[in-house]
Amino acid sequence: MSAGQDATRAEARREELAERLDVVRERLAAACAAAGRAVDDVTLVAVTKFFGAADVRTLAALGVTEVGENRHQEAEEKAAELAEESLRWHFVGGLQSNKAAAVARWADVVESVDRRKLVARLDGGAAERGRDLDCLVQVSLDDPGSSGTRAGCAPSDLPALADAVAEAPHLRLRGLMAVAPTDEDPAAAFDRLAELHARLRGDHPDATWLSAGMSNDLEQAVERGATHVRVGRAVLGERPSNQ
Ligand SMILES: *Cc1c(COP(=O)(O)O)cnc(C)c1O
Repeated sequence: MSAGQDATRAEARREELAERLDVVRERLAAACAAAGRAVDDVTLVAVTKFFGAADVRTLAALGVTEVGENRHQEAEEKAAELAEESLRWHFVGGLQSNKAAAVARWADVVESVDRRKLVARLDGGAAERGRDLDCLVQVSLDDPGSSGTRAGCAPSDLPALADAVAEAPHLRLRGLMAVAPTDEDPAAAFDRLAELHARLRGDHPDATWLSAGMSNDLEQAVERGATHVRVGRAVLGERPSNQ
């Protein structure tokens, strides 16, 4: 491909991302207005998994400041390549214990703390890096009787896990994260999440973040108090593989 074709293609992609981002920002503004909330109450985390560093750089130029990734190696490479951008990197994926310390070395926020075993490892990685790590506890909204496969701790395990994060010297408990079950109205699931969040804040008043809502259900999440929405496909387009 010639340099000219490359430039044309890059410009077309920039325009596509700008248009998609506008649509998502308008959806967020409308959802905030409908819920009587200020638009800057909700932070957009663009989930850039499977898309390259060039797209992330384009999004940064369009004003995106928070990006989400779900695979350690892919994210570590992108974060290193884009170190000069002032981006905050969120890890939103299932976290293997043996990768937790490594994730803590590039991530600014780990949204998927779902078991005790991760706490000491994340804390160790953050200590090595010499800086505190923002953490969200991921809670499962699946019916305990269902065969749900979504990650997250059981609601009954949430208080003890939250305490463990809060007590870790280099971790900051910021709040809660969840993914709506696929077999249920997201509004009902986010109602339960809002209740869990209210209870969590009773024990940990600083745990004010609520990360909920994705491309298909961000409106329902904003209506129920989400402070962070994690939007992938609506911003980037369909991912190359269905993850
Ligand atoms: C991929 C992913 C998202 C984004 O999902 P979209 O439907 O593409 O918006 C959000 N949260 C988590 C945990 C994800 O893995």
